Amino acid sequence: MARENPYRPFTPDPEQEALFPAVSGDAINGLGETEPRPARMVYWAPNPDDIPHGKLQRWFYTRDPDDPHIGRARAERARILAAPVSPLAEMRAKRSPEAWTAAFLAMAGAGDFEMAGVAEMRPDYLTEGATTPESRVLMIGVAHDFDEISAAPETRAGAEVVRQYGRAGAAAKSVASWLREQGWEARPVTGPMTGELLLIPPAIDCGFGQLGKHGSIISAEYGASFRLAAVLTDAPFAPTPARDPGVDEFCLNCRICEDACPPEALSPEKRLVRGVEKWYVEFDRCLPYFNEHQGCAICIAVCPWSRPGVGLNLAEKLARRRSRAAAPEIS
Ligand code: SF4
Ligand code: SF4
Repeated sequence: MARENPYRPFTPDPEQEALFPAVSGDAINGLGETEPRPARMVYWAPNPDDIPHGKLQRWFYTRDPDDPHIGRARAERARILAAPVSPLAEMRAKRSPEAWTAAFLAMAGAGDFEMAGVAEMRPDYLTEGATTPESRVLMIGVAHDFDEISAAPETRAGAEVVRQYGRAGAAAKSVASWLREQGWEARPVTGPMTGELLLIPPAIDCGFGQLGKHGSIISAEYGASFRLAAVLTDAPFAPTPARDPGVDEFCLNCRICEDACPPEALSPEKRLVRGVEKWYVEFDRCLPYFNEHQGCAICIAVCPWSRPGVGLNLAEKLARRRSRAAAPEIS
């Protein structure tokens, strides 16, 4: 039975509704399409004029203009994004692919960021028509303060998201500088306006976790309570393997985020999106609430995997259950 939801029914602000374009965001995302095709940029465009929902992206920034939490977090993020990266050194450092990756992974947990992984660049990490010269995507994850994100949908949670995007941006810039000081071209890509690079597919492939019903990645260590950034480079890093903490099977039997989502944007079943069955957030339902509540984040905060200390235990329990199910029966 669905839990009581204090935020339903949700009625979108008419001022915002008037800004919706004729084309549906779900159509841009390819909901219901049976054939695979590249993703298209639907939101968080570096230039909002480039996308049909650009007026809504601008409207997001008109909300809560005097909120001190949001204002401070945005100012700090802007300062981080404006800072330069190191110049490119002339001499290229040489390391084996494994040694490059080990050096990068060793940085995670030292304070600047919590998660690190490496994926080999693939065309489906890019939006339609985009190309990039770099061969590697270094993925960076930074954990939210769980108490702050749990305040969702209050502005405190939105401010925490901005703060962590800033922190992820600072980490990406510092990793790019580290590579450039060793003679390797490196380009930080910071969220949420990541342009042509999609962050979720390489983050899944490099071992951060699996897609949850709420459309965010769930990792065993941090649940869905983290943000991403990336560094694109040609330095020959060895890829890190994907991991299966058991999220997919868990989501099939859980409906906490579905019940908690005010505009009912989450489905009990996977949906067909550009030829692939996957968990999917209905963009046209989510966006009005998301925009009116500084990014919302309710689904991330209520996910049981996000609660500190819970995810690793869950992953262990699910792994034990799977190995029991796979064990041969003794007669
Ligand atoms: S972010 Fe979107 S999908 Fe998640 S709870 Fe809020 S409105 Fe629902
Ligand atoms: S709340 Fe439950 S169903 Fe939703 S993503 Fe988390 S584990 Fe999956």
